[in-house]
Order: sequence, then C-alpha cells, then structure tokens
Amino acid sequence: MKKLALYWQILIAFALSILYGLFFSEHVHLVAWMGDIFIKALKMIIIPLIFTSIISGIANVGSGDNLGRLGFKTIVYYLSTSTAALFTGLAIVNVFKPGVGADLGFANQVEGLGAAKESFGSTLMNIVPDNLFVAMVENQMLSIIFFAILMGFFITKTKEKSQKILLGFFDSLFELIMKITLFVIRFTPYGIFGIVAKQIAENNDLGELFSRLGLFMLVVILALFIHAFIVLPIVLKTIGGVSPIKHFNAMRTPLITAFSTSSSNATLPLTMNAVKKNSGVSTKISSFTLPLGATVNMDGTALYELVAAMFIAQAYGIELTFTEQIIGVLTGLLASIGAAGIPMAGLVMISVVLSAMGLPLEGVGLILAVDRILDMFRTTVNVWSDSCGAVIIAKSEGEKLKV
Ligand code: ASP
Repeated sequence: MKKLALYWQILIAFALSILYGLFFSEHVHLVAWMGDIFIKALKMIIIPLIFTSIISGIANVGSGDNLGRLGFKTIVYYLSTSTAALFTGLAIVNVFKPGVGADLGFANQVEGLGAAKESFGSTLMNIVPDNLFVAMVENQMLSIIFFAILMGFFITKTKEKSQKILLGFFDSLFELIMKITLFVIRFTPYGIFGIVAKQIAENNDLGELFSRLGLFMLVVILALFIHAFIVLPIVLKTIGGVSPIKHFNAMRTPLITAFSTSSSNATLPLTMNAVKKNSGVSTKISSFTLPLGATVNMDGTALYELVAAMFIAQAYGIELTFTEQIIGVLTGLLASIGAAGIPMAGLVMISVVLSAMGLPLEGVGLILAVDRILDMFRTTVNVWSDSCGAVIIAKSEGEKLKV
C-alpha cells in the first residue's frame, strides 16, 4: 500500500488531537511529550540551519551586485507586503470597531511590558553581536543572520583555493543539516498531535472567551484572511506570475505546522523544504530569503499589532487622529520586524505600538486571553508571506518553478 502523504498524516493527526484534547484532557500528559520533543528537535536544528543555509546561499549568489539586487528585492517585498497587511487591518478595525463597548473589567496583568518597550530600542544596535556564541546561545536570530551574511559574502572574496574549500565545506554542511531536518520532519504528525492535544486541553473555555472577545477575534481573523487569500494571491499572480493555488498546495505542510506551533522559526525547516521541493525554488534563493523572512517578515504579526492597539484605543474610548493611526502603522511595522518568530512574541511588542500612539500599556491585558489562539492564525500568515516572497523573487530572477 502506498504511504499516505505527510500532509494527510498531519491533517489526520490534527483532527485526532482535537478529539483527544476535548475528551481525554486529564490524560493529555500521555501525548504532550511528543509535542515537546518535536519542538525541541525543531529548535535544535534552527540555528545550524539558518547559519549554514545563509552562508552557502550567499556564497553561491556570488558577486556583490547579485547579492545587492537580491537583498533589495527581498527587503522591498517584506516591507511592502507587511505595510499592505497593516492597512488591511486598519481598514477592517475601523469598519467593525470591535473595541467599542468592550468589557474593561476583563483585563489581565501582563508582565514585562516596560522591558519590551526599552529593549526594542536596542534591537537594531544588537544586530551586531559582540560575541557570536552568546548570540547563538541566546537565540538572537538577527545577529546570527548578520554574521552568516558576512561569512557568506567574504567567502567570495577569499583566494580561489580557499574559496573552493570553504564553499564545498559549507555546501556539504548545509546538505547534512538538511538531511537531519528531513529526518525530524518525518515526525511532524506525532509532534502536532502532542502540541494540539495539549493546547485544546488547556484552552477548553473557548466559549467564554468568544462571548467576550469574539468580535475582536473575528476582526483579526477576517483581516488576516483578506491579506492571505486576496492580497498575497494577487501579488503572487500579477508580480510573480505564480499560481496561488498551486503554491498554496505546495505549502500545506509548513502552513499547518505554523498553525499548530505558532512559531515561524520552528516552522522554518519545513518551509525551506517545501519551497524547494514542492515549489521548485533554488537553494540559492530559498536559503537567503526564508531564514531572513522567518525573523523579520511578519505580515500577520504587523496586522495583529495594529488591530490590537486600535481595539485597545476603542475599548478605552480614546479617539485617534489620522496621524496617530499612521504612527500605529509605522510602529506596527517596526514591532513586527523586532518580534521573534516564537509563540506570543507579538503580544509584548504591542506595548511598542501602544506607547508610540499614546495609549495605555496595561490595555494589553485586555487581549491576553485570546492572544495564543490568534497567534496560530497570524503565524500561518507570516509563514505564507515568507514563502510567497521566495517564489516571487525566484521568478524575478528567471528561475523555472513548479508552481
Ligand atoms: N508567533 C509569531 C511567529 O512566530 C510571532 C508573533 O507572536 O506574532 O511568527
């Protein structure tokens, strides 16, 4: 009998895990460990994967001109799609006004808001690591990416003999890490079963949450939906000449993993695999754009930051001027770039947007209860946008794709 495709295995695991979480919530520890190990294994490979893929990707791009062109396209794509997402969110939240009349008594305390606001300022400074190993230990992705870009770039400047050795070495190392990645990916259905069952068992008060924050949730999901299924497909089709449906099918496994794990970084190994294998993007382009995208390109998070800030303003009865809303768009963009690709990273980042817009920081407490659920949706959109960027850029570089 032919083996069921990984995607279907994951889908079945997903459905069964919901049932398990609902009906056996007191026995969830029997399966939760599978999710924990899976996430640990993904985290284990992220840094070697980012490091080797960027070095070999950049070194293979070759000249500074090529690199500059690719870098420019990537940044333009990231900034413009995130900005489009922000304006979609802004429009929808202004139409539905989910915060008007919201129950302020429902607010929870959120720790670490002030710290997030302050550390945001130093995020840019910290891109240059003072110690690469500390950056690796502390998962400072931007610093790791920065150093890897330097290494990749300067490999092309070394003498021919060294260049051959270094290129060969990093290409082979990348191939090796990809092999380990593929091995870990095979366990995705089990991992997802454990993760989702645990989430469901822990969040079975959805009905209560929905009655209080339902409109806010619907507005966020609707805006994300419009961005993912209308805006990005139009960009894919018109600018990339790519079939959105085919590309979506190619990306099913990473998307469902993003939804289950709420982490762009943890999903990165699967995204890279799918973009290369199913959509046909070269290693050169996927190795460069995707690790960068998983860290800085977060359309879903940008949209969420702004919609949440607007919701908080509406709940507190604060009228915002047009300029203040545009400040929200700009800081939403910055906050999404600064947010790490891990679960709930976007929550504390809202404080950056709130303080720029002159809104009360403690407002974050209002949405705390639903953040984790909405994280699933926004992370999926983050990963989807990264993958769309990779195929559009590959197409613009003249690559022949499968989508
Ligand atoms: N969880 C999101 C991600 O990994 C970040 C966020 O919290 O918005 O992409």
